[in-house]
This record gives sequence, structure tokens and C-alpha cells, in this order.
Amino acid sequence: MDEEGWYSVTPEEIAIRHAQRSGNGIVIDCFAGVGGNAIQFARMCYSVVAIDIDPQKIEFAINNAKIYGVEDYIDFIVGDFFELAPSLKGDMVFLAPPWGGPSYKSIEKFTLDSLEPRDGFTIFQVAQAITPNIIMFLPRNVDLQQVEELSWLSSPPLEVEIEENYVQHNVKGVTAYFSGAACG
Ligand code: ADP
Repeated sequence: MDEEGWYSVTPEEIAIRHAQRSGNGIVIDCFAGVGGNAIQFARMCYSVVAIDIDPQKIEFAINNAKIYGVEDYIDFIVGDFFELAPSLKGDMVFLAPPWGGPSYKSIEKFTLDSLEPRDGFTIFQVAQAITPNIIMFLPRNVDLQQVEELSWLSSPPLEVEIEENYVQHNVKGVTAYFSGAACG
């Protein structure tokens, strides 16, 4: 794993939690990095599509998946999520987009326009054209009102559940689980 990969990886217990919370079928990990989340999805026997724009990251991810013995459950794609999105099919989209490096910690409220490589609203809009079932992993200081507003980008609005993720009593991030609104 490279230095950035090490800093960026979702803590394992949080990745396990994300995997436990997803439904059946194909999970698309859109900013897969070195594969921390994709591996946990694959361990839960989901079929995973892991995308990253950086070929080096995908190489590390393949290597890491082999260490966990789950490489056969993951299709690795080097590419730009935004270009690939129109041709992607899946039952769940997992979004852990770049938070912009460690500097997110120094601001009081992290707004969705600080996400990279495009703002959070755009990323979400592209994802929800694939499926309403979206898991988004965000900085602990994210503006929660904005996260709730994401569900209004869909009509009818999506259901959203937000949880804080702790590792050894410290909040490491916030996860938003979106799903299609129940009928009736
Ligand atoms: P963080 O700031 O949360 O640590 P990362 O640096 O881990 O974020 O970024 C997550 C991953 O997203 C990186 O591995 C990066 O290569 C990848 N990435 C960035 N832009 C794109 C894109 N357009 N499509 C797919 N992957 C991307």
C-alpha cells in the first residue's frame, strides 16, 4: 500500500459494518482506492465492481484482495467513475469519494462541495442514476443537513439513515444509507 492509501483506507471495522448493511447482489465501489471496502463486500459474498482512476491503486487493491482470498469476487476496473457510470449496473453503489486529504479535520463543518473530484451533489446525482441504494462514507464533521438534502435529488425522495462510525470511542466518519422510498 502506498502512503496515501494507508491514510485513506476505511478502518476495517467500519468497512465490515458497511458490508453487513448492504443488500444482495452487485456492489459498485466507485472510488475503491486500495480496496479496503471492496474486500469486505466480497467477504460477505457480494459480487463487487471496484473502480479507481489510478492504476497503481487498482494494482494494490488486487494484491490486497488476493491476501484476503477474495479476488475472484471482484471485477477491478481502472477508469473514471463519471465516464463509466452510464454503463454501470449494480444493486448498490458505495461512495467513499476523496475528502481532500487530512485538512478536512481542521474545518468546523465539511460541506459537500469540498468533496473531490466533483462536489457531493454531483457525485450523488450520478450514482443515483444507477440505483437508489447508495452508501456514502463521509467525514465526521460533514454538514448533516446537506447529507439529508441529497435524498431530495430523487423523486420521490429517498429514505436516508445516517450513522456515526466509531473506532475505539473516536468518531472516524459518518455513513449515510440511502434507499428507494417504501411504496404506499
Ligand atoms: P480520501 O481523501 O477520502 O482519502 P482518497 O484519496 O482515498 O480519498 O480517494 C479515493 C480514491 O478515489 C483514490 O484512490 C483516487 O484515485 C480515486 N479517484 C479519484 N477520482 C476518481 C474518479 N474520477 N474515478 C474513480 N476513482 C477516482
